[in-house]
Amino acid sequence: MHLARFPRHRLAHLPTPLEPMTRLSAHLGGPDLWIKRDDCTGLASGGNKTRKLEFLIAEALAEGADTVMTHGAVQSNHARQTAAAAALVGLKCHLVLEERIATNDPNYNANGNVFLDRLYGATIERRPTGGDMNAALDEVAENHRTKGARVYTIPGGGSNPTGALGYVNCAMELLGQANDRGLVIDHIVHATGSAGTQAGLVTGLKLLHADIPLLGIGVRAPKAVQEGNVFKLAAATAEKLGHPGAVAESDVVANTDYVGEGYGIPNAGTIEAIELFARMEGILLDPVYSGKGAAGLIDLIRKGRFEKGEQIVFLHTGGSAGLFGYTEAFDFAA
Ligand SMILES: *Cc1c(COP(=O)(O)O)cnc(C)c1O
Repeated sequence: MHLARFPRHRLAHLPTPLEPMTRLSAHLGGPDLWIKRDDCTGLASGGNKTRKLEFLIAEALAEGADTVMTHGAVQSNHARQTAAAAALVGLKCHLVLEERIATNDPNYNANGNVFLDRLYGATIERRPTGGDMNAALDEVAENHRTKGARVYTIPGGGSNPTGALGYVNCAMELLGQANDRGLVIDHIVHATGSAGTQAGLVTGLKLLHADIPLLGIGVRAPKAVQEGNVFKLAAATAEKLGHPGAVAESDVVANTDYVGEGYGIPNAGTIEAIELFARMEGILLDPVYSGKGAAGLIDLIRKGRFEKGEQIVFLHTGGSAGLFGYTEAFDFAA
């Protein structure tokens, strides 16, 4: 595996820190918790999509595109980071945002990520929920092409084998950090959605023979669907790296018990996790992804799934800009 073989445009502040979460670990009374700060990738207030965009934007530039297009939910962190990356390299950005959640909340609809999309100069069109967003994106892209635009489309979440290379890179980076400080990682836990993060990590860890189990906490799809999506993308990523068949189905593990009512709808566990990380560690999670991932981690610790003495790394995938689209979900005492 040699990532330098693939075009890459540097966008992220790397390496991101790997830090202990001392107060939170003591509070929960379970394993030693560490946090890999991919919320600190720099661009656009950070997040996991920036690592993927390093490889995606490089491909767009190599193809001579003048416009990048992608899709996501209204409060998509991926859309926000894509808008910023496009601005940085001088490409136009057009976003197709799905109204995946029924709400008239003005903060959800115009603050948080949406506000930043606009600040970065992206143009936006919206679609009602339930349609085929990949097909919608293709249609919009074709439309722009007939008007002369050279469009590079990025799938939802930047999750294709090119984007997943960003998380192969993260696996290498994290393993190097752990080796440097003599940290033996027993488990890595993170939120999983469009599957590129977990697919890249599982592929990278496998090709490095790291033998570190990885757990994705789902935010939308049922377990079998999520694991299937991650495995399929991991297989394609391994093949892109010249190692077809490297990842086994048993390497891909997702827990989808923390989705709650559905995508983008935080529940009591999500809010508790966000408040705990803020008040114990000064760290901002988000209500759609990292809050649910952390809620899963916390609940599994309470259930004894991870034990005292184990070293657990929570990969923080970012998303804090989304908090400002979700202020209604918090009920602070005066
Ligand atoms: C997109 C996203 C995820 C999920 O990553 P995938 O690669 O889509 O599975 C997790 N956390 C945050 C904050 C995200 O924006």
